[in-house]
Amino acid sequence: MTGSQAAALNEEPDSALDFDAIVIGAGVSGLYQLYKLRELGLRVRVFETGTNVGGTWYWNRYPGARFDSESWTYGYSFSQELLEEWDWEEHFAGQPETERYLNHVADKFDLRRDIQFKSRVAAAHYREETRSWNVALEDGRTYNTRFLVTAIGVLSAATMPRIPGIETFGGQSCHTHYWPKERVSFAGKRVAVIGTGATGVQTITEVAKTVGHLTVFQRTPQWCAPLHNAKIGKEEMNRIRANYTEIFARCQETYGCFIHATDPRATHEVSLEEREAFWEKLYGEPGFGIWMGNFRDILVDRKANALISDFLARKIRQRVRDPAVAETLIPKNHGFGTRRVPLESGYFEVYNQPNVKLVDIKETPIERITATGVKTSEAEYEFDIIIYATGFDAITGAFDRIDIRGVDGESLKEKWQDGPQTFLGILVDGFPNMAMVMGPHAGLGNFPRAAEYSADWVTALIRFAHDRGVTRIEATEEGATAWTDHVLATSEGLLFTEVDSWMTGINRNVEGKQVRRIMRYSGGHPKFREHCEAVVADGYRALALA
Ligand SMILES: Cc1cc2nc3c(=O)[nH]c(=O)nc-3n(C[C@H](O)[C@H](O)[C@H](O)COP(=O)(O)OP(=O)(O)OC[C@H]3O[C@@H](n4cnc5c(N)ncnc54)[C@H](O)[C@@H]3O)c2cc1C
Repeated sequence: MTGSQAAALNEEPDSALDFDAIVIGAGVSGLYQLYKLRELGLRVRVFETGTNVGGTWYWNRYPGARFDSESWTYGYSFSQELLEEWDWEEHFAGQPETERYLNHVADKFDLRRDIQFKSRVAAAHYREETRSWNVALEDGRTYNTRFLVTAIGVLSAATMPRIPGIETFGGQSCHTHYWPKERVSFAGKRVAVIGTGATGVQTITEVAKTVGHLTVFQRTPQWCAPLHNAKIGKEEMNRIRANYTEIFARCQETYGCFIHATDPRATHEVSLEEREAFWEKLYGEPGFGIWMGNFRDILVDRKANALISDFLARKIRQRVRDPAVAETLIPKNHGFGTRRVPLESGYFEVYNQPNVKLVDIKETPIERITATGVKTSEAEYEFDIIIYATGFDAITGAFDRIDIRGVDGESLKEKWQDGPQTFLGILVDGFPNMAMVMGPHAGLGNFPRAAEYSADWVTALIRFAHDRGVTRIEATEEGATAWTDHVLATSEGLLFTEVDSWMTGINRNVEGKQVRRIMRYSGGHPKFREHCEAVVADGYRALALA
């Protein structure tokens, strides 16, 4: 923040506030939050860093970017008219289709008139005297508002690797999140992809189709499973449309708001033959069924997890011709499902191509990026293009990049230094009148299903305050402590807590993100809603209202 921004934040605000609510972010969450707050008749402004709507689906234009959610479970459910008129083209839409969809939503509901693009929020400071927030943009403009609603994404703060020499590379290079809008050709080019998480897997598979030569630098192999994408014809779309009520009702019932529900059986309750047949079936079906529709114990019981991991390892060995390459692609430091499972469409077969090389950077670490390529401890590689598929400072990263200060100037980043502390993942004690849509420790899952719920809850709270002349809403310290303790308790015994990943707050490329934290609520979305609804039913007495 510049000196003039800091000065502006400390000025007395006008008696009339600029806005009733400021929303940060114009992705799936922010768009819906704007729509809902406008329904209340509030003066709302959305600030968005990008030049258009879409969030994740505006930024991530990398080759192969697409859903792992079934498209028809991902669309908004709030408007029957929207459901009637939108046809999904694929069961798992690619980025262009989803971006088109979100633009269609913005146009249909005339959302753009309240969205200010190219407006990165650099700071937001609470002012007790006026019970309001002063918000400063990166370019120096400042605004004040009664309520501040963050919709800044869980995977929106991209991180570059900490490798020396990145700036010296003479060819083309790009992080997948910041992929250019212009088409990039790989034909005849020597391309490197650094990173093999969900994004890397999608990028590698797509780039391999046209590349001259591809080198993949892998630190951690992943337990990928097939996506089985397909086009949706007119008749099938009509059938889906006729079933929307049932589809959304099912998403409400499941742990992660997907159509896939955990199988009630434990792995050892079925015979070997039955188990293998079940896993073959899941492996052959579209989407996250193998992760979310599997036996109930695979993510808690070490033996069960070892069995499903072995099943997936056998699949990799079957699909990759070179046994040494197959072994390199089989994860050894975590079991299946304990990190975010990438869904793939021919990923493993890429390594059967003669023009693709896999480099294990645990064995031969990258020492530096050079003017012409990449130098590992073993060799120097020359490239025309380097793609950084190195992911995000997840969940709290976008918060850390804004100077958010609550009562008495307390910094949110410092408050969360040892892990997030929230009430329902929506409110934070000491930060009155600030609400988070899909904040840390909220119920996560198939995103719009969970985000619609969060935004509805926030809207109802603001309506409650508005109707009663309440100008100050705050979580209590006891409430936040109890919720944080509950979140920690729900993750006990889950195998994912023993693994380094963005889901446990680890990012080797970010200072201070080296210690595992519980970053998300693991009680499942139906339980999350029960907690939220109990607070409403009790007239918000769990909150401090004034
Ligand atoms: C490649 C990829 C694939 C994914 N696939 C799926 C999937 O299949 N299913 C699923 O459920 N989820 C998926 N996700 C998660 C995805 O992030 C969510 O589905 C959803 O798009 C999040 O919406 P959002 O509005 O909450 O956040 P985002 O879409 O991340 O939007 C946040 C917006 O806030 C803006 N912003 C952040 N900070 C500031 C600031 N300081 N000032 C101004 N603007 C700011 C950003 O520019 C961004 O536009 C995927 C994520 C990625 C990265």
